[in-house]
Amino acid sequence: MKAVVVTDFNSALEIQDVPVPTPGHGQVLVRMESSGLCHTDIHAAHGDWPVKPRPPFIPGHEGIGHIEALGAGVTTRSVGDRVAIAWLGSACGCCRHCMGGWETLCESQENSGYSINGALAEYAVAAAAYVTPVPDAVSSTDAAPLSCAGVTTYKAIKVARVAPAETVAIFGVGGLGHLALQYARIAGGFVIGVDIEDTKLAMATELGADHVINARTTDPVAAIQELGGADVAVALAASAASFDQAYRSLRRGGRLVCVALPAGNATLNLPIFDTVLNGKTVIGSIVGTRNDLADVFKLHAAGRTKVITVDRKLDEINQSIEDVLSGAIPARVVFQF
Ligand code: ZN
Ligand code: ZN
Repeated sequence: MKAVVVTDFNSALEIQDVPVPTPGHGQVLVRMESSGLCHTDIHAAHGDWPVKPRPPFIPGHEGIGHIEALGAGVTTRSVGDRVAIAWLGSACGCCRHCMGGWETLCESQENSGYSINGALAEYAVAAAAYVTPVPDAVSSTDAAPLSCAGVTTYKAIKVARVAPAETVAIFGVGGLGHLALQYARIAGGFVIGVDIEDTKLAMATELGADHVINARTTDPVAAIQELGGADVAVALAASAASFDQAYRSLRRGGRLVCVALPAGNATLNLPIFDTVLNGKTVIGSIVGTRNDLADVFKLHAAGRTKVITVDRKLDEINQSIEDVLSGAIPARVVFQF
């Protein structure tokens, strides 16, 4: 089968012909139909973060396809089911986090396309219990970005407890942000989109943003404070400076949700006096659970969200990465098989 392979952190990604994997106990073999490119895949390929994957590996954690074979002991899925392979490849199922509904915090989790091979390939094996069924009303093309960009931002809006009529500032309106702003609206919020690309801001307006700010030409902190400040700011851009801006755009009682992961071990310099006196909250939010993803699919099946994608072929992986990094892709690249 054809697969994208990271051979080391300094080379271009390779398209290799590798054997189709065999599903082990409790696993399923998925034949890919659509597979999204997440910024995390690029960080993985470059070894950007303190915890690094081990090359060679196949990246990808937005994989959608039909189950073609079952490993031993699989009773909850059938051949032919269409499922999503997401970042949470598996978790232990029995620790305090797993049992408390926070499987995304499990210390024994495996991550697709990072600690185990992922979905940027014609086939992938995945834990049967951790693939999420895709409803018929959701296309594979749309389901791919929903499996990471969607569930991650849905969860961010959920943990921020956005209430109707609150102001939500979305820092970075690309792959994640174009969905974040829709979930903020579903929760009843007014939305401010912040980015440095006018094409992305135009997309944000089309998707219902109440205000947009180009942070390259306008100071977003001053502009948001002028509008009364943000009740919730969601940091989705992989730039430490934009986290600082997001924090400073909060009004009293505001909540900052940190979602993006800038390269290196970036820090946020938190002014203690301001945080205490103004009752601000800082929240870290990592992807979402299987239940969250099922909710995301349900909302999309009901026509409540729109997914913006650019179709590519797997051979175009390196060009696609360049296009994402240069800001040329408005939202999400999806590889079609
Ligand atoms: Zn992702
Ligand atoms: Zn666990």
